[in-house]
Amino acid sequence: MKKTFKISLLLAVVLSFCISSYAQKKPVIGISTYVEGGSARVNSTYIKSVRNAGGIPVCIPLTTNEKEIDEYLELVDGIIMTGGEDISPLYYNEDPSPFLGEVVPDRDAFDIMLIQRAVAKKIPLLGICRGEQLLNVAMGGTLIQDIPSQVEGFIQHKQKAPSSFGSHMIIIESGSLMAKLLGDQPMAVNSFHHQAVKDVAPGYSVTAASKDGVVEAIESKDGLSFGTQFHPEGFVSAGNKTFLPIFQHLVKLASEYAAKK
Ligand code: MN
Repeated sequence: MKKTFKISLLLAVVLSFCISSYAQKKPVIGISTYVEGGSARVNSTYIKSVRNAGGIPVCIPLTTNEKEIDEYLELVDGIIMTGGEDISPLYYNEDPSPFLGEVVPDRDAFDIMLIQRAVAKKIPLLGICRGEQLLNVAMGGTLIQDIPSQVEGFIQHKQKAPSSFGSHMIIIESGSLMAKLLGDQPMAVNSFHHQAVKDVAPGYSVTAASKDGVVEAIESKDGLSFGTQFHPEGFVSAGNKTFLPIFQHLVKLASEYAAKK
């Protein structure tokens, strides 16, 4: 064997090893956190769900410093915006309903900055419950501040059963990303909210709703950001794989984003 041939063979082996290990690198998914009692917190169900879907979960601490937010966005390949309190209606030019719940101004500011900067950088993003509502508000949409006082014929959206159980049905828009991930048949989801999307943000569409017309999922036209009003992590972390495709899709988009970095 000629020496040059041996060297090029060796190079080819090393190169293919590098390419395959690069391709197998798991994407990093940043998860938004909040502060409670002086501690940074996130429900471990989100962490488990990202792991189950093949991503590396990291927690993003609450900050309202734009430079720090950009530093975190440099680290991650995808984002999950988590559930939580009500959102200040001032963000969509409404005064508070008497039935508005607790709002956390710092968390609103952090979450909205994180979403707007992530979307501008084309970082894939999944919003869950409050996270879905915030995605809508951050991109120019509005919310129903309180379902019981604003939705005629409303069903129960604050279930008493654990989050690993579905409590109401949703109808999924056929042809949507949600239909691709979950199928287009009516299905039961869990429900822990009293706010919901009202006017969907420009560039987004409603892709699932409950029978009382409450929005249960939205997605962007470019497919990079999407959200669910229900909590898929409640099922996935309990070992139910029905909603795992939602997290697997985020991880897939994040892998594609990482490859372009
Ligand atoms: Mn619901």
